[in-house]
Amino acid sequence: MLKQVKQRLSRLLGGSKPQKLVRRDIPRDEHSVSRSAISDPAKKVLHRLNKAGFEAYLVGGGVRDILLGGQPKDFDVATSATPEEVHALFRNSRLIGRRFRIVHVLFGREVIEVTTFRGNATDTTDDSASDQRKTSEHGLLLRDNVYGSMEEDALRRDFTINALYYCIRDFTVIDFAGGVEDLNNRQLRLIGDPETRYREDPVRMLRAIRFAAKLDFSIETGTEAPIRELAPLLTHIPAARLFDEVLKLFSAGHGEATYELLRSYDLLAPLFPETARALDAGEPDELIRQALRNTDARIRQGKSVTPYFLFAAMLWPALQVEWRRRQDQGEPIQPALHQAIAKVIGRQIQATSIPKRFSGPMKEIWELQMRLPRRQGKRALTTMEHPRFRAAYDFLLVRESAGELEPGLGGWWTDFQACDDRGRERLLSQLSASGPKPRRRRRKPGNRNA
Ligand code: ATP
Ligand code: MG
Repeated sequence: MLKQVKQRLSRLLGGSKPQKLVRRDIPRDEHSVSRSAISDPAKKVLHRLNKAGFEAYLVGGGVRDILLGGQPKDFDVATSATPEEVHALFRNSRLIGRRFRIVHVLFGREVIEVTTFRGNATDTTDDSASDQRKTSEHGLLLRDNVYGSMEEDALRRDFTINALYYCIRDFTVIDFAGGVEDLNNRQLRLIGDPETRYREDPVRMLRAIRFAAKLDFSIETGTEAPIRELAPLLTHIPAARLFDEVLKLFSAGHGEATYELLRSYDLLAPLFPETARALDAGEPDELIRQALRNTDARIRQGKSVTPYFLFAAMLWPALQVEWRRRQDQGEPIQPALHQAIAKVIGRQIQATSIPKRFSGPMKEIWELQMRLPRRQGKRALTTMEHPRFRAAYDFLLVRESAGELEPGLGGWWTDFQACDDRGRERLLSQLSASGPKPRRRRRKPGNRNA
C-alpha cells in the first residue's frame, strides 16, 4: 500500500522527467548467466566486436530469459559500433530498418540482431540529433537513429527487465534500471514515464501483454494504468507491423492467456475491430479460446502453427455476424458466405495486414466448413483431396469442442481418414440424408450456418 502511494507520488512529482539511472554491476558469481546458455553465433558476434575495439553486450530477451532459467528465443546484441562498422566486420550481415537501423548477422537459420547504442535526442539541442529522431503529433517516434552511450541506450529500452546487459569480457551483468529487482518481483515496469513511452511507440502496450503472458509476470501499477485509455493509439501503427505483432502475441505458446489480457486491457479492438464488436454484441468467443488452447498445446509439442489458422479463428465471430446478417436479409447461404468473407477480410486488413499467402488459405478453411457436412457420393473423397482439408478438419474439431456444433461430424471425418476403401464405403452408406445439426444459438433463433 505504502509502496503504491510512493509510486503514485513519484509519478505525480517527477514522472515525466527522464529517469535517473544508477548503474549496478553484478559479478559472475552473483547471477545465473553462463556462457553455455548463449548460442555460439551470439558469442562469436560479441567476441569479434570486442576484438575490433568496440563495446558489445548481450541484451534484451537473451539475458532476461537466461536469468529466468529459460531458453531465449533469439539473441540481441547492443554495441558502440555504428551499423556500418558492424556490417563491415561481418560479411554474413545485412543492414535493415529505417525507423531503427539495425544489422542482422546471419548464421544459417540463426539471426543475431545487432543494434548500436541509442541516444536520447530530446536531451540535446543538437539539430542533427533531432533530425535523426522524429515524433509525430501523437508523440509517436517515427525515427530514432541517434547514437549514444550505453546508459542512454538502457534508457531507450522498453521494460527494466529488457535493459540488462551481459558482458562477455568479464561476465558481469549490468543493470541500469532495477531490472534484476523487477525480475525477482516478477513484474514488468516501463523505463521512464509510461504514458510518454506508450505514445512514442504504442506497440509497447502489446509487448507488455506479450511478456506478461509469456513470463507470467504482473504489470506494475504505473505501467498498467494508461493502457486502456491509450489502446486506440495502436490504430496509428502500420498494418504490416501489427500483423507481425499479432503473430508474436499468439505464437509464443501462451495464446490463451494473451487473449485474456488483450481483452481485459481493451487491446483486442485495435487489432481485431470486427471481432471485438461481434463479441461486445454477445457473439460467443469459445471458438477463439479453444483454438488458442490447441495452438498452445501444439507449440508445447514443438509443432508449428499457421498464421491462417490463427486468423481464421480470430475472425470467426466477425464472420458469423456478417454471414448471419446477410442471410437475414434474404441472401442465400452460399453467396452470403462469400460476400461475408470478402467483407470481413476487407475490414481486417485496415487494422492488420494479412499477406495473400495467408488470406487465401484462411478463406478456404472457412469455405470448407460448408463442404464438410456434405459427404454423399464422391464428395467426401474430393473434399479430402483439397489442399486445405487438414486445416479445415482441425477447424471443424475446434468448432465442435467449442460447443458450436453437435459432436459427430468431426469423428466421422476422423474415421473416414483412417479407413481403407471398404471402410469408407461403409461409412458413406451409413450416412443419413441429413448431416449433424448446428446447435441452436442462445440469442438468435433460426441459425442457418452449418
Ligand atoms: P523476445 O525476443 O523474447 O520476444 P526481446 O525482449 O528480446 O524478447 P526483441 O523484440 O527481440 O524482444 O527486442 C530486443 C530488445 O530491444 C528488447 O529486449 C528491448 O530492450 C528492445 N526493444 C525492442 N522493442 C522495443 C520497443 N518497441 N521499445 C523499446 N525497446 C524495445
Ligand atoms: Mg529478442
